[in-house]
Amino acid sequence: MKVNPAYNTREKLLELYNKPLLELVFEAATVHRQYHNPREVQMSSLLSIKTGGCPEDCGYCPQAARYHTDVEAHKLMTVESVVEQAQNAKANGSSRLCMGAAWREVRDNRDFDSVVEMVQAVNDLDMEVCCTLGMLNEDQALRLKKAGLFAYNHNLDSSRDFYKDIISTREYDDRLNTIENARKAGITVCSGGIIGMGEAVEDRIGLLLSYMEMETPPDSIPINALVAVEGTPLEDQKPVEQWEMIRMVATTRIAFPQSVVRLSAGRTKMNMEGQALCFMAGAGSIFAGDKLLTTPNPEFNEDKAMFEILGLVPKEAFADGEKPVSEPDPIIEARKEKDRLRAIQLEEAKAKGFEPRKITVQ
Ligand code: SF4
Repeated sequence: MKVNPAYNTREKLLELYNKPLLELVFEAATVHRQYHNPREVQMSSLLSIKTGGCPEDCGYCPQAARYHTDVEAHKLMTVESVVEQAQNAKANGSSRLCMGAAWREVRDNRDFDSVVEMVQAVNDLDMEVCCTLGMLNEDQALRLKKAGLFAYNHNLDSSRDFYKDIISTREYDDRLNTIENARKAGITVCSGGIIGMGEAVEDRIGLLLSYMEMETPPDSIPINALVAVEGTPLEDQKPVEQWEMIRMVATTRIAFPQSVVRLSAGRTKMNMEGQALCFMAGAGSIFAGDKLLTTPNPEFNEDKAMFEILGLVPKEAFADGEKPVSEPDPIIEARKEKDRLRAIQLEEAKAKGFEPRKITVQ
């Protein structure tokens, strides 16, 4: 049951969300146990592969170039350094690596070629690979799928109505299109929202309704609490109470029984008891590692201690779907061949005493 028919209207979802908290958690825990192993929680790592300088205006985001925050812009990481970070994350128990680039959209250029190589390389490490790269067309989605991409993250953030108060540089429908493109390519969809941006409870319900209206709801639904960063338009937002996170996680769990509900940003403001209630209510994943793109997150060691106390175990990679096969990418293969020929020509030229920079490849 991908969508719970008992809660498929705004009114029913709102009633569910507002239930006495412990009743809600109990119902969510019951649903969770029907579809998931409650002891397993996936540890995922989120790596910012290209930081800052983004042309978009998402009001919560310190990576938007127009806001004056402490985030330093960095160009795309190398494939080698991504692999190193992935190995480290895997050694610390992560079974999924999510690579985030602060782009408006994917462009068909060298940087995208590098991301394709990163996907291949991390998939080869037997980790689930997820990317969040902004808007994506069907061809790009297919290219990533063939490289071995397991999931694509593209959040709707909030309800269609409230979205306009937070982002003006792209439409809600643009986001839905990208999600659709990932879905068509056979990539699993990770899409969720942020609470604590000044939205009403009705907007949180509106977000869930947007997912209910999809032909297939997201395979993963991350629930984030806003991390208010100085210099962004939302810098003065009060932190959300952890009870609100628990409510949102539980409601999402009940509404989408088969999806993985991900307890994502904002965990540093929660104590272990609050997180425990989220796991009880169906959160099946956390982000591990001391950074969530650019904002703080609990250290690997803190989470290991929490897992031990709560009797949780890290979920293995590909427990919810087969490992994708990485196929050779024609663009990368052609480039490698060109590089190979160039190296040969350079050697030949050197042997003849020519200057290397005068050589061109036909
Ligand atoms: S959330 Fe993504 S798209 Fe929006 S400003 Fe930040 S990096 Fe850019």
